[in-house]
Amino acid sequence: PFEVLVIGGGPAGAAAAIYAARKGIRTGIAAERFGGQVLDTNSIENLISVPHTEGPKLGTALETHVREYDVDIMNLQTAKALTQEGGMFSVALESGAVLKARTVIVSTGARWRSMNVPGEQEYRNKGVTYCPHCDGPLFKGKRVAVIGGGNSGVEAAIDLAGVVDHVTLLEFADTLRADEVLQRKLRSMPNVEIVTSARTTEVKGDGVRVTGLAYEDRTTGEMNEVPLSGIFVQIGLLPNTEWLKGTLDLNPRGEIVIDAHGATSIPGVFAAGDCTTVPYKQIVIAIGGGATASLAAFDHLIRVTAP
Ligand code: FAD
Repeated sequence: PFEVLVIGGGPAGAAAAIYAARKGIRTGIAAERFGGQVLDTNSIENLISVPHTEGPKLGTALETHVREYDVDIMNLQTAKALTQEGGMFSVALESGAVLKARTVIVSTGARWRSMNVPGEQEYRNKGVTYCPHCDGPLFKGKRVAVIGGGNSGVEAAIDLAGVVDHVTLLEFADTLRADEVLQRKLRSMPNVEIVTSARTTEVKGDGVRVTGLAYEDRTTGEMNEVPLSGIFVQIGLLPNTEWLKGTLDLNPRGEIVIDAHGATSIPGVFAAGDCTTVPYKQIVIAIGGGATASLAAFDHLIRVTAP
């Protein structure tokens, strides 16, 4: 069996595997797609000490770094169930295989909920983006839209209003759902327009980049077009934890509840990165979380295997 079995090969999983292997204990990592979300990114400029990199390049670097150690890498493997018997965990894979481990670190990440409208996929990373912290500065001096009037949408709009020329916030319902204090702040900003009862119908582009978006006014049925360069979609981040429902404590959003050590509700199971309740979903934070979970798993192992 593995002493540490990491499920998920994004920044959190890679960090967890490296920290475990450096303790000289038997380490495995199973991932549906090694590299994780960073593979879907163009430019990354906030991984501290790396002023600029690209997603696929960082994905390869994560894997290269893990391969410097004696880690059993199982790529293209999807975990579907976690069970426990005695002091041993079993992780069942879609392939039918079952992996055994004394501790498990879950780092299965998350995915952004998309609008599912024409043009959205085509212009992804060409004006359509899901991360204001990552891509806000790319739209300096330009006009953008934020889709979604919950806390994350309104926070994004406030954030972007300080960076870009103008922000249009579109909300499907007839009122914003964000906290009142955030709404007040947003309404005080001179370069923000709020449109409620707006159903986005299409992302417009010129074949290379986003040029605007179309929406329907749900009260009148009237169609409108907004010319702009960027669209920040903020309608939810879905953790990849469906397979753990009923096994681990998840919060109402499906995030794995962890403490400051990355410990979950099951002793011996740790979690890190975007699939957890950690605030702010970012690469540096996921890497730090992976290191924390791995060190905590090691602390757990030296206690349970004490003579
Ligand atoms: P992920 O990167 O999501 O990795 C999850 C891993 O788990 C993957 O290997 C996946 O295949 C695997 N997996 C999922 N389910 C299973 C399963 N059941 N069994 C086995 N494996 C599974 N952050 C920044 O800091 N800066 C940026 O510029 C930036 N830009 C971004 C741009 C885009 C388009 C996107 C989508 C995200 C961006 N982010 C950025 C966010 C950043 O990518 C994430 O915060 C980070 O990747 C989270 O790392 P993670 O390891 O927790 O999860």
